Amino acid sequence: MIYFLIVALAVALAFCLRALWKQNRALHDLEQAARRGQPLLHDESPAAYLPAWAVLTEAVNRLITQNNSLQQQRSDQLAQLEATLGNLREAVLIVDSANYIHLANRALREIFPGARDLVNLRLELIVRSAPFLDYVRATREGTVLPREEFEIVDGDHTLWIEASGAPIPSPDGKSQWALFVIHDMTNQRKLERVRRDFVANASHELRTPLSIIKGYIETLVDGHQTMELADRDKFLRTIQRHSERLKSIIDDLLALSRLESATPGLKFAPLSLNSYFGELADEYRNRPQAADHTVTVNVPASIGLIEADGEKLAHVFGNLIENAFKYTPRGATIELGAAATDDNSVECWVRDDGPGIPAADLPHIFERFYRVEKGRSRETGGTGLGLSIVKHIVQLHGGSVWAESGEGGGLAIRLRLPRRQKA
Ligand code: ADP
Repeated sequence: MIYFLIVALAVALAFCLRALWKQNRALHDLEQAARRGQPLLHDESPAAYLPAWAVLTEAVNRLITQNNSLQQQRSDQLAQLEATLGNLREAVLIVDSANYIHLANRALREIFPGARDLVNLRLELIVRSAPFLDYVRATREGTVLPREEFEIVDGDHTLWIEASGAPIPSPDGKSQWALFVIHDMTNQRKLERVRRDFVANASHELRTPLSIIKGYIETLVDGHQTMELADRDKFLRTIQRHSERLKSIIDDLLALSRLESATPGLKFAPLSLNSYFGELADEYRNRPQAADHTVTVNVPASIGLIEADGEKLAHVFGNLIENAFKYTPRGATIELGAAATDDNSVECWVRDDGPGIPAADLPHIFERFYRVEKGRSRETGGTGLGLSIVKHIVQLHGGSVWAESGEGGGLAIRLRLPRRQKA
């Protein structure tokens, strides 16, 4: 009898344990289904025999389906928004309550090209600016803020953006997000800085000879009757030299502003480079400065024609040859050269074997008023504008210009010019 009881209990225990194991498996399956977002077929479940199980799976399946459709709706909405805002010229940004980016249109990605895909990144990783992050937080909290400009420094790169924003409800309506329209102001600010620097530099350049002229004139006005003739002569010559300098600066400034205007007035015509360089070299060989220098020409007879404004190019090469005269010692050689390149353009150069230019200065010498040796440039009547005029003329020909200086000295200014001008 006892034996029979023990066997019955063992069978009941085994049955209970098996039922428990089945329920655990079933719950685990249900959890996995919820996690994957896939409804569970309750007939296949180990707990399908339980009447309550069908009710439970049905309820969980309904929740899973509802959640899936909400998520689909949300991503449809974002995709629709992305499609609508994608091609806008204004940059649009949407961030959630934890500062995760949910929408960044093409214009915004162009402002922050460092990160390939901005969506799902935290805003702090992209926009390192505490004032902008405060602006985002305040906007999300509903504070109405005017459009504001922010400076964002990222390593040695600085961006200026102008942002205006509005709070928006999240797609599930449970939290507050924020939408921003952003304008990239970087080019504008950089241009303003260039313009400001230019006005400051130009005023400084003009003031120096002017104050010298003014000082000498005042001395002459007060003392010309009692002054030694030789002193008066020296004073007048100084005034003459500085007024010439003033004129050169103003002439160069006017030339630059004409080249930068909408009508720079270039007249393109076919130009035979071989004879052009030959005549140019002859002209400069006859100048007094050429007595101490040798001017050579290295242009193949087969170089052919290019379409260019000969007069403006004469200004370019004249400037480069005069620089070579000014900045090289007696006995230096100046080479004018040209060669055809394979892509329908020509490369021309003016090369000297003088002291050259330190590598650190090379990228700057085409900037307005940039001088490597300030004293030497002023002494020789330089304005610091010559190479920037050269660059403008070359660019108006659709070409490019750069400088090369070797370790052993010497400077070559090279120009690449297209053979034909675009219509
Ligand atoms: P500048 O009127 O002072 O000559 P440029 O714009 O023509 O102004 O040239 C800029 C600077 O580049 C010059 O001040 C000079 O320091 C340097 N430079 C130009 N050409 C040469 C050269 N051939 N050799 C050495 N330095 C040069």
